[in-house]
Amino acid sequence: MPTESTFLLAGLFLLLAAAGWALGRFGEREEEDPPPPLNIDYLKGLNFLLNEQTDQALEHFLKMVRVDDKTIETHFALGSLFRRRGEIDRAIRIHQNIIARPDLASEQRDQALFSLAKDYLKAGLLDRAEKMFTRLSQGSRYQVEALENLTRIYEQEKEWEKAIEAGQQLEVLGGRSLALQIAHYYCELAEAAAVAKDYGAARQYVKQAQAGRPRTLRGALTRAHIAQETDDSKTALRLYHRIIDEHTYLIAEALPEIVAIYEREDAIDDLDKAFRKMLKKNPEMNTLVAYTAIVNDIGGIPVIDECVEKYLRNEKTLSEFIDMQSVAAGDDVAMARVRKALSNLASSTPRYQCQECGFSSQKLLWQCPSCRSWETQRPASRVQFDTVLQHSITGP
Ligand SMILES: [Zn+2]
Repeated sequence: MPTESTFLLAGLFLLLAAAGWALGRFGEREEEDPPPPLNIDYLKGLNFLLNEQTDQALEHFLKMVRVDDKTIETHFALGSLFRRRGEIDRAIRIHQNIIARPDLASEQRDQALFSLAKDYLKAGLLDRAEKMFTRLSQGSRYQVEALENLTRIYEQEKEWEKAIEAGQQLEVLGGRSLALQIAHYYCELAEAAAVAKDYGAARQYVKQAQAGRPRTLRGALTRAHIAQETDDSKTALRLYHRIIDEHTYLIAEALPEIVAIYEREDAIDDLDKAFRKMLKKNPEMNTLVAYTAIVNDIGGIPVIDECVEKYLRNEKTLSEFIDMQSVAAGDDVAMARVRKALSNLASSTPRYQCQECGFSSQKLLWQCPSCRSWETQRPASRVQFDTVLQHSITGP
């Protein structure tokens, strides 16, 4: 089967013939000149195409149509077409061919380097891409794009120090704030330091993360984790409560931790009191508290159990499956069974969804892997029955 690139090159060869290059005509020709002989490379290239030997045909095209001021745009267009079609080796070959031209103007050299760097990036050759983008970021008209690509590479490679540096340069050159993104880079460093039990460094990174505006609550969450790990329950609780007050949706992350601390401190009564106060202030949080408790199997705390029961009785889609009215109030066994079933369903459906692109996942991801936005995921507050049903119909 001829590939797309066979057709692409065949089109170019036909264009060359139409333009007269196949006949060796490059300049103006007087009327009385005899017709020039057919270009031998053209015939060879055509022959390779007919035999579907695309790479050889491409080599002949490159040999025949040398890079000069008239043809350079064709070379660039062909290179980017190959890249878009995923034929990266061919795109690289074309861009290297442009760079090899000795008398290339510096602007065109930068364009070729930028194209080649994008080829390497798409091919997953991050080291080579990084080298070229770094060079372009130091002074070319591609500075901003090069820095944007560098931050993407550093994010992939988890080189957060370098990501911070590139991000800060980008803020200056691009004239826009990347405070939130950079704050997350510091949080990544803080979390890594906390894992290595270097709590001093971790706190320092959190401080830097919190310096920017808008602030990320991930910093407070990381700080709370550190307090918890260093047995500073008082600070941890203060931070967790502050997180919930400021960004109620983060209760999905904070609730299991809060419950663990109160249980460890043997202070469930205090937890009950604190949550009743919170729910009185924000009654709309009932659903999220209940759903988080169901998913994380948190029970035995009166205020949370009341949230869950209320939630189960009010869940409209659930009532299509179970007659909740027949589950008598105080029938703990029946309620526990419904709750368990719902917990199983919830564990097989995504819990978080990106508000920018809709990407969903089971765990909270600070950076969306699909659209690369930071802090755009929000937790679900109910089981998505349509997803469950779709899942069970189409299979895993
Ligand atoms: Zn997204």
